[in-house]
Amino acid sequence: MRLQDLSAALSDLESNHRLRRRATLASPQGVDIVVDGQSYLSFASNDYLGLADHPALALALQQGVERWGAGSGASHLLTGHSEAHQRAEEALARFVGREAALLFGSGYAANLAVITSLVGRGDAVFADKLNHASLNDGCLLSRADFQRFRHNDMAHLEQLLAASAARTKLIAVDAVYSMDGDEAPLPALLALAERYDAWLYVDDAHGFGVLGGGRGAAAEHGLASERLIYMATLGKAAGLAGAFVAGEGLLTDWLVNRARTYIFSTAQPPALAAAVETSLRLIEEGDERRARLAQLAARCRERLDGTRFAGGASRTPIQPFIIGEDAHAIRLADSLRRQGYWVPAIRPPTVPENGARLRISLSASHEPAQLDALLDLMLQASG
Ligand SMILES: *Cc1c(COP(=O)(O)O)cnc(C)c1O
Repeated sequence: MRLQDLSAALSDLESNHRLRRRATLASPQGVDIVVDGQSYLSFASNDYLGLADHPALALALQQGVERWGAGSGASHLLTGHSEAHQRAEEALARFVGREAALLFGSGYAANLAVITSLVGRGDAVFADKLNHASLNDGCLLSRADFQRFRHNDMAHLEQLLAASAARTKLIAVDAVYSMDGDEAPLPALLALAERYDAWLYVDDAHGFGVLGGGRGAAAEHGLASERLIYMATLGKAAGLAGAFVAGEGLLTDWLVNRARTYIFSTAQPPALAAAVETSLRLIEEGDERRARLAQLAARCRERLDGTRFAGGASRTPIQPFIIGEDAHAIRLADSLRRQGYWVPAIRPPTVPENGARLRISLSASHEPAQLDALLDLMLQASG
């Protein structure tokens, strides 16, 4: 695209209801946000446990800054790897019950890292159709044979695995799908990985902190296997930023040597790493928060079941309200906004064509009455 093409292309997006704009928050992240001087009740963050603005976590970050200063100043392989990073990695590995863990600047970087470090030309990746964009980008970048199986369809996956002659195989899935809130059948996936000698790479961006007593989706299913690679982000329920990959020590040693997004990128500020242990403590002590979240999710499902907006069976904080047409989804989101509710309209290409939806993201800080009021408005407005 040349510069002079951009204006027409942006106008096209606008007339197709596909133009994306950012809201600028004048408040910390939370269920009460301020945008352009207006207050809103937000159902639009991934801050599922309400930790992003938790005083204990903010204090840990402050103390981290006092101890470690502001920036890390280098990549992990130069001098950017501090004792704070090292301790955070050890704590994360213990927390999810794995031998080792490696910190990344983001989940996106972690996904690119793991996939491109383990598979390449002559290998194959098997990816769920509804995987997160960052997993797909990792698959493309790896140059491995990129095979996508129908969403949660184990028979289809098995067909593809059985037909593949690739030397190294890697199955990549979201543990909790980010647009529908439904879950991958992890035990069945691990059984297939074992039968076909494949890695199983699980992106638990939305399950970490929420499922398995906070230890994530793999822990909830009690999965233990050397071939299981676990990734979770620290920017969602954990309330911070960044991500980690957990697995065998041999795996993290290999990533330190091969993962380009690890090697050629500056380490996160050590203060952030220093706050990880506090986040883990809050997650560990978060049973009450998780119980509130589960109740909100059940309430949401109950009220949408049997309506034409039902999006399936999500017991997670992600509750889709499926509308179909982009313009309708946007109109509903705009009308809710005028009434003080911030709920994002999600459009293609993030979701399939005709799958435009409002995505309700629940937080442990929501009151049940607030959710009820939102659902009343949504169901009324949509007839
Ligand atoms: C948010 C998300 C990511 C990216 O993580 P960041 O730390 O935000 O870069 C990766 N995978 C899934 C499923 C996500 O929802």
